[in-house]
Amino acid sequence: MSLSHIVIIGAGQAGASAILELRAHGYEGKLTLVGDEPHLPYERPPLSKEVILTPDSARVEILSAEKLAALKVTLITGNGAERLDPEARLVELENGDTLGYDKLLLATGGAPRRLPMLDSLAQQVYTLRNLEDARKLITVFTAEKSIVLVGGGVIGLELASSASARGCRVTVLEQEPMVMKRCAPAALGEYLVGRHRAQGIDVRLSTGIHSAELQGEEVHLLLEDGQTLVADAVVYGIGIVPNVRLAITAGLEVDGAILVDEHCRSSHPDIYAAGDVAARRNGADRPRRIESWENANHQAAIFARHVLGQEPPPARAPWFWTDQLGINIQFVGDMAAAQWHLRGDMASGTDSAFTLIGVSNGTLVAGITVNQPREMRNLRKMVDKRVCFQPEQHLDVTRDLRKLA
Ligand code: FAD
Ligand code: ADP
Repeated sequence: MSLSHIVIIGAGQAGASAILELRAHGYEGKLTLVGDEPHLPYERPPLSKEVILTPDSARVEILSAEKLAALKVTLITGNGAERLDPEARLVELENGDTLGYDKLLLATGGAPRRLPMLDSLAQQVYTLRNLEDARKLITVFTAEKSIVLVGGGVIGLELASSASARGCRVTVLEQEPMVMKRCAPAALGEYLVGRHRAQGIDVRLSTGIHSAELQGEEVHLLLEDGQTLVADAVVYGIGIVPNVRLAITAGLEVDGAILVDEHCRSSHPDIYAAGDVAARRNGADRPRRIESWENANHQAAIFARHVLGQEPPPARAPWFWTDQLGINIQFVGDMAAAQWHLRGDMASGTDSAFTLIGVSNGTLVAGITVNQPREMRNLRKMVDKRVCFQPEQHLDVTRDLRKLA
C-alpha cells in the first residue's frame, strides 16, 4: 500500500516524537498531528518540577511552530479526535471535520485516575496532568498553605517536594506501607520517606481517606486510621487511566490499554499505539504498559520505522527518572528484581550518593542511581548485557563501574 498520509492522534510526547522520527527516517508524505489541547506539543516531566519551582525559566516545548512548519506538519490544536472508522480509514474530529489516513498512530496518553470522594468537593481539590493543572498549582502552593498530597507515587512525592520548597506545610498520604511501590523497590522507598520527613514533610503510610468535607475554605479529611487532617488544598496523584475511548469505539482490542505487538501495531493493521496508552502483548504474561518519557519516545520510534519498513531501534532496558528534594534518581531495568544490593553509602544525609543494584537469578537486571547520574550509563550497559552479578566487584566503590561494564 502506498503511504501518502499519516495521522497522529495526540500531540504529546509520543505524538511529537513520532513526527520527528518519521521525517528523520525519510517519510516525505502528508503528516497531520491532531491535539485536543490548545498548545504546541510539550513535555510533562517539568510540570511537577521546574514549572512549579522556577515558573519563569521552565521550558516545556518539544516542537516550535517554526520547526513544525519546517517539517511540513499540519498541526491541529484544541480539536480532538472524536471517532475512528478503521474500515473507511477515517477520523472524525470534535468540530465534525474528517481526515482520511493510510496509517494512524494513537498517542492519546492518559488522564488522572479520579477519586470521586474528593472530586465531589470540587473546590480546593486538584490533580496534575497538563500545563493548565500545573499553572493552577503555582497559585495554590504559596507560603504557609497547608497542602495534603494523596498518593505517594512519583507525582505525589515530586509535588510534595515542590510544595515544600515553595514554603507550604505538606502532608503525604499513601495507602500502601511504602511510597513509590509501583516503580521502585522498598529500599529506595524507605530512603525517600526518610528524606521527605527530614525536610519536614509529614509522610503517613498505610492510611487512606475515610471521608472528606469542605468547611468554609478548608478541606477536612477523616483518615482510615481515625486521625483528622485539615488542609487549604488537597492534590491527588493516584495513577492514570489510559485514554482508550477512541480505540474501544473503533473495535480495537483493549485491556485497560490498547494492546499492541512488538511493532506497536494494534489489532488493526493500519492503527498503531504508543506511549502511556499502549500495552505491549507479552506472550502468556500480562501485557506490559510503561509510563515514562523514554518509553513514549522509544515506542514512537518503533512505530515510525515499522510503517516505513525499516529496522526497529535497538531494544534497551526501560529507563526513567525522578527529581525530588534536589535529589536526582534514575532507574533502569526490572524494578521487580528479586534482590537489591547497595553500592555506596545511603545514610550520609542530603548529599548522599549511592547506587542500588537489582539482581535476579544471579544476573544484574536493574539499577538505580541516587545523585550519581554519571553511573547510569555504566549500569545501563551492564543491565543490557545481563552481566553476572559479582558482589565483591560490583559493590566495591573503589572499583570503577565503567571498567566493569
Ligand atoms: P502525553 O504526553 O500525555 O500526550 C497525550 C496527548 O494526547 C495529550 O496532549 C492529550 O491531551 C492528547 N489526547 C488525548 N485524547 C485525545 C484525542 N481524542 N484527540 C486528540 N488528542 C488527544 N516520566 C519520566 O520518565 N520521568 C519523569 O520525571 C516524569 N515526570 C512526569 C511528571 C508529570 C507531572 C507527568 C504528568 C508525567 C511525568 N512523566 C515522567 C511521564 C511522562 O511524561 C509520560 O509517560 C509521557 O508524557 C507519555 O507520553 P504520551 O505521548 O503517551 O502521553
Ligand atoms: P503517579 O504516577 O500518579 O504518581 P503511581 O501509580 O506511581 O502514580 O502512584 C500512585 C500512588 O497512589 C500509589 O503509591 C498508590 O498506592 C497510591 N494510592 C492510590 N489510591 C490511593 C488512595 N485512595 N489514598 C492514598 N494513596 C493512594
